[in-house]
Amino acid sequence: MPEALAFFRGRFVPLSEANVNITTHALHYGTAVFEGIRGNWNEERGKMFVFRAPEHYERLLQGCRIMLMDIPHSVDDLMGITVELLERCGYREDVYIRPIAYKSQELVANLKLHELSSDFALMTVPFGSYIEAEGAIRCTTSSWRRIDDTIIPPRVKISGHYVNSILAKTEATLAGFDEAIFVNQDGSVSEGSGENLFMAANGALHTPLVSENNLTGITRDSVWTLAEDELGLEVVERRIRRSEIYLADEVFLTGTAAHVTPVGELDNRAIGDGEVGEITGALRDAYLGIIRGDNPKYAHWTTAITPGGG
Ligand code: PMP
Repeated sequence: MPEALAFFRGRFVPLSEANVNITTHALHYGTAVFEGIRGNWNEERGKMFVFRAPEHYERLLQGCRIMLMDIPHSVDDLMGITVELLERCGYREDVYIRPIAYKSQELVANLKLHELSSDFALMTVPFGSYIEAEGAIRCTTSSWRRIDDTIIPPRVKISGHYVNSILAKTEATLAGFDEAIFVNQDGSVSEGSGENLFMAANGALHTPLVSENNLTGITRDSVWTLAEDELGLEVVERRIRRSEIYLADEVFLTGTAAHVTPVGELDNRAIGDGEVGEITGALRDAYLGIIRGDNPKYAHWTTAITPGGG
């Protein structure tokens, strides 16, 4: 039977015992950095394939540098902890893996990062699909602008900045859409509330620069590689305007949770024919074929784990 465990305060403990006190700094101010990693169950091989975990941990440690958090773990240590946690938990289904580095000091009236101690925790939970929609999704341009790097750096996963995504996602879904697309203060396209954005137009793929207040997406990077190496497509990183999306041939979103999600509509305007586009479909199939460890060419992107160890 699988067991819900967490790595907490340096030990593997039941998830139900991995609790912090109400005075913990991160709870009050969002002073934490997290990651979202997927473990993909391969029934035929009886193994879990964790997708690009070292890259996620590198991004976590970048966030720690920005937030002046010293956690006593290298990427290799974090990989070791992840493998051990998944082996011990023994899940035989898709999981979401959530590492978090946080200002753990039980002290609330202090805004000086350099005076606050930090800790690291890791948990994992069973996880299916993130956006529950058949075919292409319906998006809306958010009335909330994307936070700028001059406000809170969006290139890493700082907990506090997720309030921006949460406001946008909530607004979009309450209005009956599946997802929100952010624009920046100047109107240039940034990304989805939890995904990077790509657009197919004029025979190439286009995506906003990371400096347009995007997370440095690992799925974005993977899809970029697949577009060039598997489909022979040119990928152009540039400033994109909202109306270009309306007129694009295809648009899709990428993210660990969302995989490659086709966008059929923005602001009630159909994109292309409003269905899953050819390039989007091909990239989605290529990506989904890799994350479960079934494509030897991209085996270096996955870490195989046997439930129970061994
Ligand atoms: N942008 C935001 C705001 C996100 O939260 C995510 C999900 N981590 C992404 C993009 C996609 O990043 P990744 O492909 O690394 O999961």
